Amino acid sequence: MGKRKSGPFSGQLIASNSKRNNFPTYFVIQRISNSNETFHNVSPFLVEKGITSSVGEVKSTKKLRSGDLLVEVESPKQAKQIVKLNSLSSIPVTVKPHATLNSSKGVISCGELLNESVEKITEELNSQGVTHVRRITIRRDGEILNTKHPILTFDSSKLPEHIKAGYMRLSVRTYIPNPLRCFKCQRFGHSKTSCRGTLTCARCAEVGHENTDCTRTEKCANCKGEHTSLSRNCFAWKQEKEIISTKIKKQISYQEARKLIKSQTPTPGNSYVSVFKKSTAPSFQTKPDIAADSSSKQSASTPSAPPAMTNQTSFPSVAPLCEKVSALPDLTDFKLVTSKKS
Ligand SMILES: [Zn+2]
Ligand SMILES: [Zn+2]
Ligand SMILES: [Zn+2]
Repeated sequence: MGKRKSGPFSGQLIASNSKRNNFPTYFVIQRISNSNETFHNVSPFLVEKGITSSVGEVKSTKKLRSGDLLVEVESPKQAKQIVKLNSLSSIPVTVKPHATLNSSKGVISCGELLNESVEKITEELNSQGVTHVRRITIRRDGEILNTKHPILTFDSSKLPEHIKAGYMRLSVRTYIPNPLRCFKCQRFGHSKTSCRGTLTCARCAEVGHENTDCTRTEKCANCKGEHTSLSRNCFAWKQEKEIISTKIKKQISYQEARKLIKSQTPTPGNSYVSVFKKSTAPSFQTKPDIAADSSSKQSASTPSAPPAMTNQTSFPSVAPLCEKVSALPDLTDFKLVTSKKS
């Protein structure tokens, strides 16, 4: 274990990228208890001692909102040891790799891969840690077209900088999904099916009707600006995007990322809204609309420009499309102990 062995065609590339850890690093420790006891009422000293005495010093330990523990291990050896644990200082536990934190998603761009099936790409890149490939598509005149940008899921929380596809060396950029906007209440972060809000018009922000036949003045339900809730010039949309981006890049919880971004950006209602006033009609000319809003009427997008891929510098960025609910990693219960004061 440790350094990934060179695959058949990975050669020196992977060797030089040997910091890539291809073992699960995040584990969830859950108490086995008939009375649903969690770690909420266990002494932190006991937890710390239990972990250290069984696997040694770990990178971090956090308590999830559920009361389970999230442990980030340091080495492949610890990864092997920790899954075998069945008790922590005499408390019976089960240990599992975290469902989503041990993988990461990146985007590559390669015209030569346009006609290759995702199955074939997965198979060929598997030795470099790729476990799943999904192609970014754009909607154009009602037709769904493939792009040359496959999204790769890697078996590690750390993205490699490059991968090698046959003879081609391709850089891998962090994949940042677009904000998920509810088609019912227009708020971000959940979908229509799990909405507990009120039906709000995506065009005029009034409650009680859909935007289908609405001809009222445009008003955004999220930032109250003079644009529809679908607008990519929306302050709230951009902020949401930045939160998601920060969450992924810093590997922190949504709540933590939100706090961070909110503390850095001015609130809407002043400068931002007025800056965007002129350009906030559903003007998607400059950036092709390649979003997931399948129920929205934005299919006539310009196909020429490639979708802007969000990478390191991203404030007003448009990331690609066809995002479904499932594309958002579920980190809703991933919370720092320190943010829980009770
Ligand atoms: Zn909703
Ligand atoms: Zn309306
Ligand atoms: Zn807005």
